[in-house]
Amino acid sequence: MKKAKRIALVAHDNRKKDLIEWVEWNWELLIKHKLVCTGTTGGLIENALQKKLKEHHKEVTLNILKLKSGPLGGDQQLGALICEGEIDILIFLWDAMEPQPHDVDVKALLRITTLYNVVSACNRATADFIIASSLFDADYETIEIDFSNYLNRRI
Ligand code: PGA
Repeated sequence: MKKAKRIALVAHDNRKKDLIEWVEWNWELLIKHKLVCTGTTGGLIENALQKKLKEHHKEVTLNILKLKSGPLGGDQQLGALICEGEIDILIFLWDAMEPQPHDVDVKALLRITTLYNVVSACNRATADFIIASSLFDADYETIEIDFSNYLNRRI
């Protein structure tokens, strides 16, 4: 994992306010990294970061990839990027109080995140610990997961 991280940011509707607050709080750190977001979350994050840059008279080109909206396949696109080794960190504020139309996609994303040993947070406290880590702005040697037992299993 390189110093410049590829950070996925996703929030369900009831958690978007929380994520935007977190992004605004951490904007100076986040703008140094590539951000990958589901559609609606990405639009809100882009606006919030642009506002911060304007307020602080900074000219920085934001690196934000906006995927499809979560319920329209955005979570699955993100899962595919994780399989391809394109995501280092996932901050996913999912709604623990309301069922979602795309609950199966959410479950799949969380599973693939765990399987591929992606650094992940599903609440703000964990997101705070991740962004405060000295590893956040450093190179980090990730342990390659060995799937050979599974791949070479006898069928
Ligand atoms: P959204 O998707 O950012 O497009 O709202 C989030 C999600 O539900 O995965």
